[in-house]
Amino acid sequence: MRSTEKATQRAILDYLELTGVFHWRNNTGGFKDKSGHFYRFGALGSPDIFAILPPTGQIVGIEVKDAKGKVTDSQREFGGKLVYLGGQYVVARSLDDVMPIFGRPKWKPKQPYKAIGTDSG
Ligand SMILES: [Mg+2]
Repeated sequence: MRSTEKATQRAILDYLELTGVFHWRNNTGGFKDKSGHFYRFGALGSPDIFAILPPTGQIVGIEVKDAKGKVTDSQREFGGKLVYLGGQYVVARSLDDVMPIFGRPKWKPKQPYKAIGTDSG
C-alpha cells in the first residue's frame, strides 16, 4: 500500500505521543475571503510538526511528504535556518525517517509538567 502524507503524519504523531515526546502540529496555509483578500496563517515554510528532543530541548522540525512530495524553497529555507541555529530538520516520507532521531527515549518526563509563569512561581 502506498502511504499518503496524511497516513505518515498520523503514524509520526502517534509515535511521538506514545514515546512521550513533547510535540505539536504546526498548521500553515492560506485562504482568500469573499473580497479577494489573501490571509496566511502559520510561518511560511514551517514544517508540519515541531518536537522537542529531550533532555536537551533541541527543536526538531518534521516536514512530512508522501513518496513523491517535493520540498518547497520556503521549506528548505526554514529547515536551513533551524539547522543553522542548532535545531534539527527532517523531511519524513515514513515513520522510519523520524524514529532514529528520538529512538526510544530513556528520558522520562516528570508528570504532570509544572507550569511556569504562575503567581506561585
Ligand atoms: Mg508536508
